Amino acid sequence: MDWKLSIGAFSRRFATEEACARKLYEIKWPEGYVCPLCRHREASVTRTRRLPLYECLKCRHQTSLTVGTAMEKSKTPLRKWFLAIYWLTRGVTARQLSKEIRVTYKTAWLIAHKIRHAIRLTTSELPLTGHVRVNEDRHGPTSLYSVYRRNVKYQTLIAAASISEEGKLLRVKLHQVPAEHLFVGVTTRYGMRCFLQQCVASEADLKVAPGIYNSARYRPLNAFCYEASRFMNEIYCGIGPKHLQAYLDEYGYRFNFTSREESIVRDLLRQCVARPVITYPKLTRKAA
Ligand SMILES: [Zn+2]
Repeated sequence: MDWKLSIGAFSRRFATEEACARKLYEIKWPEGYVCPLCRHREASVTRTRRLPLYECLKCRHQTSLTVGTAMEKSKTPLRKWFLAIYWLTRGVTARQLSKEIRVTYKTAWLIAHKIRHAIRLTTSELPLTGHVRVNEDRHGPTSLYSVYRRNVKYQTLIAAASISEEGKLLRVKLHQVPAEHLFVGVTTRYGMRCFLQQCVASEADLKVAPGIYNSARYRPLNAFCYEASRFMNEIYCGIGPKHLQAYLDEYGYRFNFTSREESIVRDLLRQCVARPVITYPKLTRKAA
């Protein structure tokens, strides 16, 4: 199917729970059902529930299409999940999402964060390779409006990108520097080393410009970071330090698809199937 669909075409394509369940099945078990415990390939199917229940004919283990996915244990219909995934690839607030898919604000907020969690797990697995440029930067006010109305505060970031021979940004990462890696708002050497170890392949050809007043900072990356801040200030009403990384990952994930032929909607749907859910208590837990 063509994944570069308009929202209208997408919602018609996935208008029923059955259509969504079929798509989930296709993604989860492309070669047909496999028992997650014993790898047996035959199951009995109970279809009287909201979602079909698969019982392994060998070990009797029961599973459903959403077990192990971002949608696990959610009471929200798959159809609404699919639409939410579509909207997240466009950038959307919880308030807008709650209107679009007709759920409460709290449900929309939770679904959006569960999808962002899948994005976060995905992006954290892929280190930057090739020619890599790293800047220190910050997320903060980009207009007077964002200072006074949106309560945006400065947060130190590390911005990094794989670049092409011509210097174009190919793949980016925006990293919120944790408090313990900061000294008066500046990333410590140790903090930078931790970031590089985590996010950049060891064989990459690396240029690092630490410090936010460093004139050696890579300008296209500065501009990218500023644009990300501006976008987030405009769309969301001030993002606190607790969830900032999730929004940075979402922004970076979207950007990284702009130069790719693949469909972002298809990829995000796959990531939501492949990644385990994050629960509400975990999401809202205060940092230790
Ligand atoms: Zn089994």
